[in-house]
Amino acid sequence: MKSNYHCAVKDCKREFCALHRFPKFNEQPERFRLFVEATGNDNLKKLTPRKIYDRIRICNNHFKLEDMRRVGDNRFALFRHAVPSVNIYESKTPAFWVYQFLEGSNVLEDVSGK
Ligand SMILES: [Zn+2]
Repeated sequence: MKSNYHCAVKDCKREFCALHRFPKFNEQPERFRLFVEATGNDNLKKLTPRKIYDRIRICNNHFKLEDMRRVGDNRFALFRHAVPSVNIYESKTPAFWVYQFLEGSNVLEDVSGK
């Protein structure tokens, strides 16, 4: 199976490894934020959460073995609460910009806890 997707993590050169979708923002906003932060990829700023879910992938190389289970010969599924923790971009500032495109929505309030 040939895929056009590649890993979103900045400077990740791994190929031929399993890729995972990002979480759905409306279901797991905090987990979504951790995924985006882990990539260190500014290009994601230009995308809505929906487009990120549709188009962006992150590779196996950023998860621990216990974060996933094998579901086929060369296929892995992440557990529902797994977040990238290996070979990720070390962000010094929280990625608050993730929520910029949601300003004015109550999703933003849910996330900040205010
Ligand atoms: Zn990767």
